[in-house]
Amino acid sequence: MLDTTTEIINRVAKKIGVSKVQVEELLQADAIHEFEIFLGDKSYKGYRSQHNAKHGPYKGGIRFHEDVSRDEVHALSILMSLKTAVIGLPLGGGKGGIAVNPKHLEQGEIEQLAREYVRQLHQHIGPDKDIPAPDVNTGAQTMDWMEDEYSLLTGDTTKASFTGKSIKNGGSLGRESATGRGGLYCLEQYLEMKRTNKKPLKIAVQGFGNVGQYFALLSSNNPDWQLVAVSDSSATICSKELDINKLMNHKNQKRLVDYKDQSVKVLDSDAIFSQEIDVLVLAAMENSVDTVNVEKIKAKIIIELANSPVTTDAERFLNSKNVTIIPDIIANAGGVIVSYYEWLQNQNKEQWCEDEVNQKLEKQIKYATKSVIEHADKQKLTLKEAAFAVAIERLLPKKV
Ligand code: NAD
Repeated sequence: MLDTTTEIINRVAKKIGVSKVQVEELLQADAIHEFEIFLGDKSYKGYRSQHNAKHGPYKGGIRFHEDVSRDEVHALSILMSLKTAVIGLPLGGGKGGIAVNPKHLEQGEIEQLAREYVRQLHQHIGPDKDIPAPDVNTGAQTMDWMEDEYSLLTGDTTKASFTGKSIKNGGSLGRESATGRGGLYCLEQYLEMKRTNKKPLKIAVQGFGNVGQYFALLSSNNPDWQLVAVSDSSATICSKELDINKLMNHKNQKRLVDYKDQSVKVLDSDAIFSQEIDVLVLAAMENSVDTVNVEKIKAKIIIELANSPVTTDAERFLNSKNVTIIPDIIANAGGVIVSYYEWLQNQNKEQWCEDEVNQKLEKQIKYATKSVIEHADKQKLTLKEAAFAVAIERLLPKKV
């Protein structure tokens, strides 16, 4: 992931006349904290990369996953700085994690890990320094434990030290659906500016988890959009008319391969790529689209809701076929935008209603998408390049 991130930054920097020295500076993290977390007789590596705070406190998730490494948190923290910059949030970029498979641990052990992570890091984080959030295998409960530990250690009572908390503990309404919803608004903005025909759009979603499910659910309200396939790591489910609520109920208990319904076809997981569709939504994992599967894709629009789901070589191939890629740093920014709203609500002791959150999100993400599309047209860049160009320019030190 660090290679993919570095490649796109170098490519765009060259196109917009940013020097190699400036790129080197841009890629450097301000700090990468690395420490051991002990649990009984075992120890786990913990990390927090604080990449760039030019526009405000570092912001980004904490993941619990066995693949977490220094390079991974570094790359993800760079993407967070670019994301907050392209959206225009007064925040920087950070990312952290513990190299652990939480599925092998009891709930009490996960809580101990979460609290110990904060004990090791509390001097470097806080509402005005670095505000972590949930990420892979962490959620509202993890943030509640972490916020509680932080307030015990520091006396901070604002609750603004972590976002993605439970609603009863200062979380924001609308946060759960924010990333899928933000992706939907991004696509709407793109279609409003670029779509020439008004034929109904066929859509498929790879990755039927939190983000993919909300995207699917909300897009089913649009009579011109037809959701024809969804996938998880076990299967692809296809039909002219998918019953999203039924699929969501099923998926929240079992894998898609076990879905039983006469009206659908159950295919293998990779079959999602070869569907006859207009829009492919990537909401699963990084590097999902590579040189092996890219040639199967028939969609003319790809929307990246996962981080870096298209490899550099696959991106090159898609560009050569005039496939539009709506890039991750704008398409999946809904989560960090609503996290920012949560931080604001905590600081001001407010609780916004869900409609207010959704309306603000729509306005903010559509405005950023529009600016990126206009920049791409003006500078003859792809949307991905334009999004990175806008972000890089905002992160460079001001010329004197
Ligand atoms: P999740 O764990 O809820 O869902 C991921 C889904 O992807 C699961 O259903 C899983 O079965 C599926 N999947 C895994 N491998 C697959 C494969 N090879 N083919 C098809 N499906 C596969 O995670 P999520 O919160 O929905 O996040 C999805 C992606 O979006 C992740 O890459 C995450 O980093 C990124 N993201 C999430 C948020 C957020 O707010 N949740 C914000 C920004 C980016």
